[in-house]
Amino acid sequence: MCGIIGAFGKNEVASLAIQSLVALQHRGQESWGVLTYEGKDSQRFHSHRMRGFVEADIETIARLKGSVAIGHVRYGTSGGSNLRNAQPFFGETRFGGVGIAHNGNLLNTEEIRTFHLESGSIYQSTSDTEAILHLLSRSRKKTFEECLVDALNQVKGAYSLVILSEEGLLIGLRDPRGFRPLSLGKKDGCYLLASETCVWNEIGAEFIRELQHGEMVVVSHDTIESSFPFASKKCKHCVFEQIYFSRPDSMVDDLLVSSSRYRIGKVLAAEAPADADFVSPVPESGVASAEGYAKVSGLRLKRGLIRKRSYNARTFIQPTEDLRQEGVRRKYCPDPAILFGKKVVLVDDSVVRGTTFRLLVEMVREAGAIEVHLRIASPPFKHHCIYGIDTPSDGELLASTMSIEEMRKYFNADSLAFISLKGLHHALGEDICPSKSRFCNACFTGNYPVL
Ligand code: AMP
Repeated sequence: MCGIIGAFGKNEVASLAIQSLVALQHRGQESWGVLTYEGKDSQRFHSHRMRGFVEADIETIARLKGSVAIGHVRYGTSGGSNLRNAQPFFGETRFGGVGIAHNGNLLNTEEIRTFHLESGSIYQSTSDTEAILHLLSRSRKKTFEECLVDALNQVKGAYSLVILSEEGLLIGLRDPRGFRPLSLGKKDGCYLLASETCVWNEIGAEFIRELQHGEMVVVSHDTIESSFPFASKKCKHCVFEQIYFSRPDSMVDDLLVSSSRYRIGKVLAAEAPADADFVSPVPESGVASAEGYAKVSGLRLKRGLIRKRSYNARTFIQPTEDLRQEGVRRKYCPDPAILFGKKVVLVDDSVVRGTTFRLLVEMVREAGAIEVHLRIASPPFKHHCIYGIDTPSDGELLASTMSIEEMRKYFNADSLAFISLKGLHHALGEDICPSKSRFCNACFTGNYPVL
């Protein structure tokens, strides 16, 4: 997972671009970068790429001159984090300088890369995204846009992209399935692109619309040209954006994410009631679903677990189980005043390796809870994501190796239930066979959409 932004204005846009990236920080904390463009000359591209959280001083913002910008926040994996892989990438082509930032995952770029390397190309990074720049540069089509489409027709996978060219164009693109989100906004005459609409809330921009699957928009001066340059395919938006990844105040694929989670919680309560004294969310990811669960179950909502404010490291991507467990212990603190002598329902968005619940049940019992019922606002997560969400391999996913009863015992919970796949789709407004859904649910079903 990553986050991307683009800005096309009349005045300097670096500050706006950086503020937009701050609003997408939840999509990636490993590294971030901005590329700006201030005129028809490749010397006038300015780039800034850093590790860690997005923050820039006045001097950096002043150096990033230009009225067009793209930016990226990168989600790290347990593998090496290298500044070379920080985006946006920049390259010189026959069209002049080109910058690119990508959210998603490409599946066939290893072959493409090998072919390029064997024929003499030099790559700057180990990222899949760079292959797009090479393909674009090698394309013999006439215009820049044609070369870009030609390049993208050769890659398979998930991509939402923002591209900045020396012709002064800002391009936004969503792959033919539309796995990853991308939306269009406007502020003070400046057109903006961003992975999520929470950016518009945070910077005070107007939300124009989300890009459709397979759509390309070319932003130049006062116009936005939209086209659908790829062979049309049925959309398959990532369902995990609704469940976990997107910020609750974002509108993703026409759904307000917090409302989706609330409805998921309601369906979960109807499918899997629990005999308990109250419902507690696992903060922050379980909050909206726990509210929905409380509404339908009639149980009170109480904060039995506190997420420490100072905590901002990610337990999920720690390389060893010991480190992940330590992370969970440091992240949450159970409140004995609420939990002592009580039967509690804990609601969280998902179980991946099972680290969080294994520890939380123990901690909640230590704080005095007499019964712990776990309710999960997604179906069992059995298949790793190949479209850009960083998940462990199938064998490490708890639900792929254990039955629900085995998981209950593993967590030492009094009961454990997951929302059904049908229930999930129903909560997202679809009463159809899940295989016909507009959402990709491969992480639950193993039915990976054909690319
Ligand atoms: P686990 O402890 O491995 O079962 O992971 C479940 C927890 O990780 C839940 O609290 C989720 O909110 C969170 N989570 C789920 N998917 C991801 C992801 N791709 N990256 C980071 N955290 C995640």
